[in-house]
Amino acid sequence: MPDTSPLILIVDDVPANIQVLAEALRGEYRVKVATNGATALAIANASESRPDLILLDVMMPEMDGYEVCHKLKSTPSTQNIPVIFVTAKGDVIDEERGLQAGAVDYIIKPFHLAIVKARVSNHISLKIKTDMLETLALIDGLTGVPNRRRLDEALNNEWKRGMREQQSLAIIMSDIDFFKAYNDHYGHGAGDQCLKAVAKALFNTLNRPSDMMARYGGEEFIAVLPHTDLQGAMQMAERWRQSIEELQIPHECSAVAHHVTISLGCAAMIPSNNLTPQMLLKQADQMLYRAKKNGRNRVGSSLT
Ligand SMILES: [Mg+2]
Repeated sequence: MPDTSPLILIVDDVPANIQVLAEALRGEYRVKVATNGATALAIANASESRPDLILLDVMMPEMDGYEVCHKLKSTPSTQNIPVIFVTAKGDVIDEERGLQAGAVDYIIKPFHLAIVKARVSNHISLKIKTDMLETLALIDGLTGVPNRRRLDEALNNEWKRGMREQQSLAIIMSDIDFFKAYNDHYGHGAGDQCLKAVAKALFNTLNRPSDMMARYGGEEFIAVLPHTDLQGAMQMAERWRQSIEELQIPHECSAVAHHVTISLGCAAMIPSNNLTPQMLLKQADQMLYRAKKNGRNRVGSSLT
């Protein structure tokens, strides 16, 4: 079984300092280490190694701890990772600066390992509770539209209803074209603004009360359309595509337009016992892939 214990990232330019902390925390936690800010940020940003807590040295050459903390706190995917500064700088001013940079705690060297362990344990349990609350919520924090959990619920309900009524249920899966390039070029703040604008336009374009949409992943949005066949879904998808074109959000790094565009995949089924909602999702995903392969900024379906 994979180890799912909380992951702690220890950042310090002096390997001996890392070793002391790592030895104290291993056993109870998984531990990753970095000896400079750039490596720490790379580890924190990779979704497969995202830490649950970071112990961060303040004084490091090139990028100091304040800057690392600032970068973590200004990136949506890393802003909720609690940071504890571990430092020899014991002045009130330093401590204040650390807490203002967004750290949850401040440990001054030389430290007692028992105290470090107790503080780490406290912040880890808070982190686990926060994560749980986020999963339980039904609204995506950034865009304000329903999240994936809400969508899964709605899809299952509509699936059952479609089966009872023997009515076609459709899905549109959409994805912002070249969004990674957008983020890299314009920065994460602009990336968030773009996601919000796209979510709002898509939301406003749905017109039947029974239609629902959700943010499905990073730059992926999905619509669930009851009582809709494939033709109807394709018409709706084309309206979604146009609504994003009309925003005219500049995108210098897109290979298909000078502005932000989306690709879309449609699928529809009459739900039955031989089929599952996952099959419908999978088909829509394959049609999204087809739209991308055919040049993006377009709608893909089994008819295209
Ligand atoms: Mg140092």
